[in-house]
Amino acid sequence: MDIEKNTARHVRELTPYQSARRIGGHGHTFLNANESPKSESYLLNSTSLNRYPDCQPHDLIEKYSDYLGVRKDQVLASRGSDEAIGLIIRTFIENDEGIVTAPPTYGMYEVSAHTNNVKVAHAKRNDDFSLDAKAITDAVNNAPFHVKAVFIDSPANPLGTLFPKDELIKTLKALPETFIVLDEAYIEFSPEGSDLVALVNDYDNLIVTRTLSKAFALAGIRCGFTIANPQVIKTMLKVIDPYPICDPVAQIACQALTPTGIELTRERVVKCNERRARLSEALKNNPLVTEIFPSTGNFVLARFKDGPAVFSNEAQHGVILRSFEDKPGLKNCVRISVGSDEELSECMRILDEMGRADG
Ligand code: PMP
Repeated sequence: MDIEKNTARHVRELTPYQSARRIGGHGHTFLNANESPKSESYLLNSTSLNRYPDCQPHDLIEKYSDYLGVRKDQVLASRGSDEAIGLIIRTFIENDEGIVTAPPTYGMYEVSAHTNNVKVAHAKRNDDFSLDAKAITDAVNNAPFHVKAVFIDSPANPLGTLFPKDELIKTLKALPETFIVLDEAYIEFSPEGSDLVALVNDYDNLIVTRTLSKAFALAGIRCGFTIANPQVIKTMLKVIDPYPICDPVAQIACQALTPTGIELTRERVVKCNERRARLSEALKNNPLVTEIFPSTGNFVLARFKDGPAVFSNEAQHGVILRSFEDKPGLKNCVRISVGSDEELSECMRILDEMGRADG
């Protein structure tokens, strides 16, 4: 059989998402996937592993909706927020329609659109990389296809910026027939900006995605959430796989969402943000750095005199960062996840040595 010939055309032409794990890299310090540097311990009960789990484990949905202060019928759990992105596209968008994204942004929106054979148009950011409602509405109205959803990450990856509440409201009002997907994967690192999820009570076209992968330090269990109008959730549940949340995943997630677990996350976030401030300060003092993007996530994006040299020199020493060299406007930019103090010291030691050799 000619497998290539028998592959769907849009899949033949697809470049898969280059996740940090897929790119790999031989190192011992991984600061390339915005993970928490440390895991907590959890208990597992294996008495029901012979049974299929509930599609939407009741306890999990209850705990997460309590955590956010929304209703249970406004919440859907999935395998990370990555699955939520694909599910939104599969549920609401047809092949001759599409989405709008605002590059530089999280790459999965575009990959997920192409995987599902739907189209992508781009909203233009301002010169300072900020994004406003006008740019989004222009992109939606001028796209050569019907735009069904706009994907906005806030905090944005890799820029680190928040999408302002007033711009979100303007966008929701200007595009009442378009889903505005607000991806808040990193929002816990910016507690002062975390109240936008409540807008799902006022706007049918708002869909918020969240995750336990970042602030909750649970990237390994793959658990994310969609928060939206109950009818949106109900429609997405028509499309979701029968058993997306494994029983051990639900058990661990429920422990992370107890009052003790939530408090641990708050403390973890405070410490992470302190390390982020120290990292930004250290970068400021390095002669190779030409620009530091103020970050509200668990990572810092910096522009260097020679970004690829920084990336490869760190990699040669076993420290794996993420290069954004090829992304629009981000030449010489490298993103550094806020790892542990030891990991960040190691990263800075290598950079400072390069700085001394340079000058
Ligand atoms: N959104 C953004 C902006 C991200 O950076 C990521 C992961 N890096 C995700 C969503 C996906 O997270 P997960 O699938 O682990 O929930």
